[in-house]
Amino acid sequence: MTDQKGVTVWFTGLSGAGKTTVAKKIEELLEKENFRVERLDGDIVRTYLTRDLGFSREDRDENIYRNSFVAFLLTRNGVITLCSFISPYRKARKKARKLIGNFIEVYVNAPLEVCRDRDIKGLYARAVAGEIPQFTGITDPYEHPVNPEIELRTDRETVEESAAKVISYLKDHSFIQLKL
Ligand code: ADP
Repeated sequence: MTDQKGVTVWFTGLSGAGKTTVAKKIEELLEKENFRVERLDGDIVRTYLTRDLGFSREDRDENIYRNSFVAFLLTRNGVITLCSFISPYRKARKKARKLIGNFIEVYVNAPLEVCRDRDIKGLYARAVAGEIPQFTGITDPYEHPVNPEIELRTDRETVEESAAKVISYLKDHSFIQLKL
């Protein structure tokens, strides 16, 4: 596995769209095949690396910038890096792509109503009640990708189907070689 090619798979989408769920599924599949994988998740890094940041545009951009630097280092060292960040701004994602190089943008797309109905963290209810300012999709913008490498429709696909789409892309573009 020493000659493994590094790549960052960047999941962007609304809260509750399925970024973490799909990334975890892919991590599980790849680790089973002994690939070196790392997962960077918005909810987790915000309690460590970027715990000083909030949700203004400036802070969101800084969050993405610091994390893309970590992803860049991992990718450079041959790790398949799975990044799950709402990352609502196109410009910040473009900057991440430029820094990282091997970058696959995955638009985790589920309609806002679906994410709101799922509301797995109870955040939409609180945002609608005015308890969370600057909540993406409710009181803050989300700029969807214009030309992502992959689009997942998690309202119509199973987690397995969404994960399989990403795995197929990695195989078709020679980032991994296996028969998953
Ligand atoms: P995010 O990381 O984007 O905030 P999560 O992964 O935490 O979202 O939550 C997504 C929710 O949607 C989970 O409860 C998951 O089980 C559900 N879900 C249903 N279908 C899918 C799918 N195809 N892909 C990902 N998640 C799905």
